[in-house]
Amino acid sequence: MPTFCRTFRAALAAGLLIGLLSPNQALRAAATLGPDEFNSCLAQIRVQAAKAGVSAPVVEASLEGIEPDITVLDAMAHQPEFRTPIWDYLAALVDEQRVTDGRNRLQEWAAVLTAAEEKFGVDRHTIVAVWGVESDFGRLLGTRPLVRSLATVSCAGSRQRFFRGELISTLKIIESGDFSPSALVGSWAGAFGQTQFMPSTFLRIAVDFDGDGRRDIVGSVPDALGSTANYLKRAGWVKDAPWGYEVKLPAGYSGPAGRRHKQSLAQWSALGIQRIDGRPLDGPASAGLLLPAGGGGPAFIVFRNFDAIYAYNAAESYALAIAHLADRLRGGRGFVTAWPTDDRGLSRIERKEVQERLLERGYDIGTADGMIGPKTRAAIREFMSTRGIATEGRAGGRVLDALRSIHRPAGTTR
Ligand code: CA
Repeated sequence: MPTFCRTFRAALAAGLLIGLLSPNQALRAAATLGPDEFNSCLAQIRVQAAKAGVSAPVVEASLEGIEPDITVLDAMAHQPEFRTPIWDYLAALVDEQRVTDGRNRLQEWAAVLTAAEEKFGVDRHTIVAVWGVESDFGRLLGTRPLVRSLATVSCAGSRQRFFRGELISTLKIIESGDFSPSALVGSWAGAFGQTQFMPSTFLRIAVDFDGDGRRDIVGSVPDALGSTANYLKRAGWVKDAPWGYEVKLPAGYSGPAGRRHKQSLAQWSALGIQRIDGRPLDGPASAGLLLPAGGGGPAFIVFRNFDAIYAYNAAESYALAIAHLADRLRGGRGFVTAWPTDDRGLSRIERKEVQERLLERGYDIGTADGMIGPKTRAAIREFMSTRGIATEGRAGGRVLDALRSIHRPAGTTR
């Protein structure tokens, strides 16, 4: 079940974090991972790797002298201070910068994308949208050595069996010669490359799409794009079919909903649901109704291809981000229906602006990197409290507007 790791990675790309262990659980896990425990755990893994057919020299070269990385357990334990609203998630993942970058990549890699469309039947806009969300078009691949991270979570924490499988897969990748151990870096959970595949996913799905004999989702854009297309195809992608579209609900709609609650378009139409521009519903026979923010926000009819995107990373918000980014890359606009909030989500540039303005006012939040962490949230809480507003520290439109509206007198701070 690699999906929860990838959910983590996508959230990280959005500058958000979701937790898997409580901090107490992680502390306990770290406290019990002494050198003896780690070494005896590695001994078990060596046996398991040998049984799985990994050669002794590869196992030894990969695990020799390795030490646990306790910061990986910290990352695993990180808890959100509040639930991330869908509009924050989408605002950061599908901002103007990513749309512009994506359109440039569509031009730059047009020949490869044409070949991927022909071979796998997945459209270029969706492939590029996945690339943009997974690794910001190859810019964010993660920096942690995979073997060390996976060895750590294979020997501590609540998902050891799962991570041992991924560690063995990593050793198999090294054995295959596609990558040396030092070239395998990624997220704490082991997702790596421009596609952010887990090692077991790499073994099953990755393709050599530039024909050099290596499956290189780290250094080769064609391999990354082909591998993403192959993933979606294997997840059931239907060629030339839509993912879905925004719809209009009748006032006070209280009927069925849900991605999995599939019924015919005739049934959805009979409930009074129309395309957002008032036209009747059209498209594949069977569809679900997605209400990401309940009945009060944008609503979507979603088809089989939405499920294929969902398979890449099991979160409906993630799938909607990919689908929407693909539409934007095709020239489509934002959603017609507003999110049910008066405190809009911020783009990555705006998040950075919030941080820059906090720094200008003397708040010690480190560097303005666009990632809203605990320091930024604490500064936002403090800043807003000086304005008489209690908040949880979320970086939204209201904070940005307040920071922009203040003119700091010369020679003072805050
Ligand atoms: Ca290749």
